[in-house]
Amino acid sequence: MMFCANPTAQFKSHQTEIEEAVLSVMRSNCYVLGNEVEKLEQEFAHFIGTSEAIGVANGTDAIELALRALEIGLGDEVITVSHTAVATIAAIEAAGADPVVVDIEPEFYSLSPSQLEEVFTPRVKAVIAVHLYGQSVDLDEISKFCKQNDLFLIEDVSQAHGARYKGKRLGSIGHVNCFSCYPTKNLGAIGDAGLITTNSAELAMKLRMLREYGWHNRISEFPGRNSRLDELQAAILRVKLKYLDESNEKRRQLAEYYINHLAELPIQLPKIRSEAEAVFHLFVIKVNNRPEMMRYMLERGFQLGIHYAVPVHSQAAYKDRIRTAKDMHVTDDVAQKIVSLPIYPELTTLEVDSVVNSIKAYFGK
Ligand SMILES: *Cc1c(COP(=O)(O)O)cnc(C)c1O
Repeated sequence: MMFCANPTAQFKSHQTEIEEAVLSVMRSNCYVLGNEVEKLEQEFAHFIGTSEAIGVANGTDAIELALRALEIGLGDEVITVSHTAVATIAAIEAAGADPVVVDIEPEFYSLSPSQLEEVFTPRVKAVIAVHLYGQSVDLDEISKFCKQNDLFLIEDVSQAHGARYKGKRLGSIGHVNCFSCYPTKNLGAIGDAGLITTNSAELAMKLRMLREYGWHNRISEFPGRNSRLDELQAAILRVKLKYLDESNEKRRQLAEYYINHLAELPIQLPKIRSEAEAVFHLFVIKVNNRPEMMRYMLERGFQLGIHYAVPVHSQAAYKDRIRTAKDMHVTDDVAQKIVSLPIYPELTTLEVDSVVNSIKAYFGK
C-alpha cells in the first residue's frame, strides 16, 4: 500500500548517519537540552536566516510558547484560518487566547487577506499565517495589515520548512515563527519535536525560559512549561537538515511530474504563487467525486489522504464556539473536495507514474 507520506523511507535513505548520531547521544551523558540541541538551534537559525532558533517539544507548543513570549493570552484574540491542522487553533487556546478564523483563497487554499479587516477588533493582538501544503501565504498583504494595526505576525511553518517568499525563507519574516518536526513533515524527527525562529534576542531568551518552567539559574522568574527538546531528536534533525534542500527539490520535481501528467483531467491542480518557491509538503488536488475516487484508488493500492476533511470551526470541540468571518464558503467547499496524493522525496518516477495512471484510468483516460 502506498500512502501520502513515508517517514521510514527517509530514515532508510540516511540510515547509517542517523544510527551513528543516535548511538553517540546514547553513549553520552546528556539526553535533554544539550550539545545537539544547541548545534541544531545554530544550524537551523542559519538555514532559515534568523539570528535565533529555539528547540521545543512539538509544533503545538512552539505556537503556544510564541504567543506567551509575546504576552498574548486571556482576553486577547488571534486571527488565523480554519483550514489548518487543529494544532494551530489548539495552541491559541492553550495560551489562553481566543482564535478567530477567516476564509482561504480559492487558488492557494491559504489565509485570505481580504477578510482581515472584517474580523478585526481592538482585542486582536496577532495573526498566525499558516503556510499550508508547503506554500507561502500572501505575506506582503498580511504583513501590511499587521503593520497598519500594530499586530504581531506569527508564521506557522510546520508544512513549509525551506520554502521561500520573494527569496526569503519562510519563518524569517514574522516576529516569531513556529515549526513542527513531526515525523511526516519536510524536516521530520523520529518522534515529536518543534522549533521556533526569531530575530529578537530578547524573545529568544524568554522562549528558552518558557520551555523550562520560566527558569533563570533554576529559579522560576515567571510561570513556564516543560517543552524541552531531547538530544536524540535534535541529533536526528541535524542529519536531516543537511539534506532538506535536496529533498525539497525532489518534492518539487515530483509535483511538476504530477502537474504535467494530470493537466487534462477535470481536477483542480495546485497553483504556485509567482513570488514563492513551494516545498510540496502535500500535493493536494480538488475533485468533485472524492469518495468514489478514493475508493477506486484504494482498491489499486493507494491510500490517499484528506488534509483536512472538517474545518476546525465545524469540529465538535470548536463548533458554535469560535468566532469566524461571515463567509467561510471556500473553506467549507474545499473540505468536501480535496485529496492528497503520495508525495515524498524517496518516491520514484515509476511509482508516481503508477499513481498518475490509476487516476487517469478512474477518469476514463
Ligand atoms: C503539524 C502541524 C502543527 C502541529 O505540530 P505538532 O508537532 O503535531 O504539535 C501545527 N500547524 C500545522 C500547520 C501543522 O501541519
